[in-house]
Amino acid sequence: METSSSSSDVKIIFSTDDVSESPPVLDEKLRKLKDLLLKSDNRICADCGAVDPKWASSNIGVFICLKCSGVHRSLGTHISKVMSVILDEWSDEQIDSMIEVGNFYANSIYEAFLPPGYSKPNPNSTYEERAEFFRNLAIRDMLSSDPYVVLTLGQQRAQTTVIKSNLNPVWNEELKLSVPESYGALKVQVFDHDVISSDDIMGEAKVDLQPMIAGVMAFGDPDLLADMPIGKWLKSTDNALISDSPINIIDGKVKQEVSLKLQRVESGEIDMELQWIPLNQ
Ligand SMILES: [Zn+2]
Repeated sequence: METSSSSSDVKIIFSTDDVSESPPVLDEKLRKLKDLLLKSDNRICADCGAVDPKWASSNIGVFICLKCSGVHRSLGTHISKVMSVILDEWSDEQIDSMIEVGNFYANSIYEAFLPPGYSKPNPNSTYEERAEFFRNLAIRDMLSSDPYVVLTLGQQRAQTTVIKSNLNPVWNEELKLSVPESYGALKVQVFDHDVISSDDIMGEAKVDLQPMIAGVMAFGDPDLLADMPIGKWLKSTDNALISDSPINIIDGKVKQEVSLKLQRVESGEIDMELQWIPLNQ
């Protein structure tokens, strides 16, 4: 027996840019940074709007205030690399990302993705309010994510193509894996392709294939059946599901919609459609 799973409408968001250090040319760099800070949008914190930010997230590309820098720092450097504008040594690459993104561009993205009725923190917001804002942000790495998805089932591995610099990549690719007699969970991993260093993991999740296979076993040949639900993988605190994942017969095919929240990462979701293909087809 075989299942094929095609991922589609995949939303991924991260900041996992590797930053390589180059020898400091301090004056020149500091001048560039100070020029950037003179731009009106960079004169207020990208997150809360406090005036005169002296900190930055060099991989995200935004200038932030001291209080917000604490929230960024708590997320770890793989999410946000917090640097002092004045005290730290900046690489050319880091300065470039500040030039390419900056608070204006970042804010236009944030605003487009803020949930309805949700407002940004202000300079008086508590730490919790700032952290909450960050959790709700869907977008972080605006420039450097080249994501691809790897599926692993037992010894088998299949992967999608790499999508260059995309915030909301859509793969729309079909990957086939055969389900062995005894199977474990289907592992879904998203990586950021990196030509220089090894690829960074951008999150992972597991799919329990048991509900689909139980449905197939119980109902038999889907070709002979009308469209109907044959099972459901239920969202729980133990799995990565965003919502219950229904398994249906549609046009003689067993299909399952799966929406996963990526684990081991600050944010990111992935939608997939699994399809069961009996071996005789
Ligand atoms: Zn702030």
